[in-house]
Amino acid sequence: MVCIIADDTGVLKRITAQIPEVKSVTLIVMNYYLVLIQFLFTIVALFLFWQSVGYFRRMWTYKRVKAMPFPKHYETILQDIHQYQTLTPKHKEKLYFLILLFIDQKEFVGAKMTITDEIKVIIAFYACLMRLGFEVGEKDNVSTIIVYPEHFLVDDSHMTDGIHHTRTSVLEGQSANGTVAISWQDIKLNIAQRSKENVIIHEFAHELDFEDGLADGTPLLENSNYKMWSEVFSKAFTSLHELTDMHKDSEGLTLLGDYALTNEAEFFAVCSERFFETPKALKKYFPDLYEELKRFYSLDVKELFSSKS
Ligand SMILES: [Zn+2]
Repeated sequence: MVCIIADDTGVLKRITAQIPEVKSVTLIVMNYYLVLIQFLFTIVALFLFWQSVGYFRRMWTYKRVKAMPFPKHYETILQDIHQYQTLTPKHKEKLYFLILLFIDQKEFVGAKMTITDEIKVIIAFYACLMRLGFEVGEKDNVSTIIVYPEHFLVDDSHMTDGIHHTRTSVLEGQSANGTVAISWQDIKLNIAQRSKENVIIHEFAHELDFEDGLADGTPLLENSNYKMWSEVFSKAFTSLHELTDMHKDSEGLTLLGDYALTNEAEFFAVCSERFFETPKALKKYFPDLYEELKRFYSLDVKELFSSKS
């Protein structure tokens, strides 16, 4: 106390001298926060503006496409597809809109071939059939479809233990980063043979799987839970692997085929093919898998293809 009283004048002088400095520091800090708040506000406003522009552009596109008549020759092209023949008028109506929107919005590129309406309509049909249970625009990440006349060659290079490997693969389909490449010859063969395989569904299933950034056979799930999905898919994948390791066969293994066991991503893509091509058989041999896919695609395909009311 004595010391404070003795130094009272000096202390007061010192404090008085610091007031303008404190004021200016406070002002600088306040200005800094104001600029920061203004900056954040501008970012949020720009984001909302951009979202609104995107929303209104989408709505305008939907309205424009909805007003377009579905060309008669598109319908003729679809007559050869067995799934189309079994669809109800209500589902056909939704598909017509989705197909027109798909053709309007996606870029089709012919690799040494001309893109015809038949190619566009058939690819759009299967890609949209997979999205029949989704909201319009939901999980829609493919922007470009490259069509090859037949199987195509892809060079793949990678490093293992410091050694550079290059491999050339012959493919009927490939997908990455919103681009799907497909062989037209294989599409036509799948349809003509009413095959359990479908290269369009396979490649678009990969794109759905990639939505979360991982090619792991588990897409983003909204109607299911990851634990259940993982248990069901792992159980089927592992038990089929065990069968092949023991050189045993089963009807389930015959249905899915060896290629499905390449990895989890291929397993999901192949199961998606069977879900849309042979739903009855998939439900019979893998009822749990069928249920998970039904929840994911928001579609009971078996019922869809058997009711025509
Ligand atoms: Zn694949």
